[in-house]
Amino acid sequence: MIPKETVDKVLHVADILEVVGDFVHLKKSGSSYRGLSPFSNEKTPSFYVVPTKGIFKDFSSGKGGGVVQFLMEHEKMTFPESVKWLAKKYNIEIEEEQPNEEALKERSERESLQAVNSWASEWFESQLWTGGEGRAVGYAYFRERGFRDDIIKRFQLGYCNEGWDTMTLAAKAAGYEEAWLKASGLTKEGKSGKLFDFFHGRVMFPISDVSGRVVAFGGRTLKTDKKVAKYFNSPESALYHKSRILYGLYQAKNAIVKADRCFLVEGYTDVISLHQAGVENVVASSGTSLTEDQVRLIKRYTQHVTILFDGDAAGIRASFRGINLILAQGLDVKVVLFPDGEDPDSYARSVSTETFQEYLLKEARDFIRFKSEILAKDAAGDPTKRADMIREVVDSIAMVPDAIQRSVYIQECSSLLNMDEEVLINETNRRLQKGLKKRSQPGDYVPEAAPFPVPQPEERGETNLYDASAQERDLIRLLLHYGNLPIEVSLHDLETDEEAMHQTSVSEYLLFELENEGLSLKNSAYQRVANFYAGELAKGCFPEVKHLINHADPSVGEVCADILAERFEVSANWAELHDIYPDTEDLNLSKATKDCICKLKIKRVMQMIEELTEELKDPQLPDERLLIILEEKRHLDAVKSELARHFGSTIL
Ligand code: ATP
Ligand code: MN
Repeated sequence: MIPKETVDKVLHVADILEVVGDFVHLKKSGSSYRGLSPFSNEKTPSFYVVPTKGIFKDFSSGKGGGVVQFLMEHEKMTFPESVKWLAKKYNIEIEEEQPNEEALKERSERESLQAVNSWASEWFESQLWTGGEGRAVGYAYFRERGFRDDIIKRFQLGYCNEGWDTMTLAAKAAGYEEAWLKASGLTKEGKSGKLFDFFHGRVMFPISDVSGRVVAFGGRTLKTDKKVAKYFNSPESALYHKSRILYGLYQAKNAIVKADRCFLVEGYTDVISLHQAGVENVVASSGTSLTEDQVRLIKRYTQHVTILFDGDAAGIRASFRGINLILAQGLDVKVVLFPDGEDPDSYARSVSTETFQEYLLKEARDFIRFKSEILAKDAAGDPTKRADMIREVVDSIAMVPDAIQRSVYIQECSSLLNMDEEVLINETNRRLQKGLKKRSQPGDYVPEAAPFPVPQPEERGETNLYDASAQERDLIRLLLHYGNLPIEVSLHDLETDEEAMHQTSVSEYLLFELENEGLSLKNSAYQRVANFYAGELAKGCFPEVKHLINHADPSVGEVCADILAERFEVSANWAELHDIYPDTEDLNLSKATKDCICKLKIKRVMQMIEELTEELKDPQLPDERLLIILEEKRHLDAVKSELARHFGSTIL
């Protein structure tokens, strides 16, 4: 809700050298400044700030961006938080935009729910420590479970009295409205209209968001009656979306960053027991399987996840699918299996702290390897199961965004499963291709790296043919370095039916062509950069790079900084490897710009041809479709030759 002008003002005065200097010790080195990366434990400085460009670039972690990105990464702030932080530093007054009525309504709803929840959390806690019943029943239960006082306090555990409406009456007496008590799920209305406490007679586990505000509760019954549900949870509300909350994250986040690893367990008691055993980098997804939002939350703090499983085999298989989601986000996943019949909570309580911590270290195994082993055991001696098994293993491998990592897995699994490496490669490639076609929604995950080259000479060149990532990067590079510079291009004038020279700018030309040809960029961060340029041009503004490197979406800032930093990332053979222009392109900017679009078009056409060729392989293809395909293919082949002729290059 901060107006754009204010953001501009802040970005205008914020000095990246000064801001980063608050956190990192920097030394001048040429036109840039150098220091030890604050994002990794390095001994040789590979962290740079380039004040003239307003960027930082960390070669050890790959992170980069503008001053706002730095704060978002380093201080784990949101975009508005970073802008506010800078405004404060530079004494700029922030006028927040008046939010519209709907936003106001939602905000007041959230605030009211927040107030009720935080009151209730304190009330439950006070009952546990000082209420007669709470102490005798709730506190006694936690102590019997072995929880220490400091741990009970750290997790703000509480107790809700057995009497039907003790909490509701206390809340009303404290001035809280019935409507909010009901909306939060704390109070329910019985059939006769009588209000009662949803959690009565339960010990309470408050669930908080990343900043420690209580947004919901879990309540465990103390009855052993099997007919009573062991756990109750608050319903979803404007405040609580369970797919976006991880239990324990608030208490764990610093430890996760320090350990550069996050342990994932099933529930409240596991998280708490691990803390008591000195393992604080642990969160739980609370009953459900992990969601994409939750994985993204973890990713803010680390790339490494270890999942702790209890020793029940059925549960493990059921979780395989969910774990693919974690792999797809580029996280590395390990698993630890506990002895049969033990869960992390019970095992942590049954052994010493040292034994437990050692166990986590010693037993951690790579997930894909672990999965392959389990499935291989299942399928032993059963050929039909074997096919399923390979498909499942490949499902996971194809999720890994990093091509090198994928090939390591392929090698290992081929020996683990006693399976020809090439079969796995082919199967993985097929999966990746399918994924590329299916997931074309903007913003969706698309594996960036090219599929594997199959190690056969005649096929080697082919697999990379329609991977346009180098060309897409080149386009963004032209936009960032030269976007506002003028170029002359010849365009076909419809009125006179003649080619005529036109004055335009690099960004105008590139975006016009993208739009005109219906080309979209597969890399979603690149596409967002292009969208930004399109938006600014449509408004008649000169797009400014500083807004991009400080974009609210950190992935945008990261790719931009990465590209802008390229010139001192000396890579002599880059141009050769990727057929991309070296620095001297300034001399012939309009050619570089036109060639860039031309290459993208060629890639796209080749991809379309490939898709048609694939379809032709279908033996059941109806004749009419066959004819259409052949016609389309002829047309595309002609377009391709035309483009190649224009381009006059050896790319094909
Ligand atoms: P016990 O003392 O019998 O071991 P527990 O409180 O440890 O009980 P478990 O049944 O062992 O509970 O389950 C482990 C974790 O799973 C709990 O900490 C809880 O967070 C979560 N859990 C279990 N059942 C539910 C449920 N119905 N809804 C939400 N979470 C649940
Ligand atoms: Mn348990």
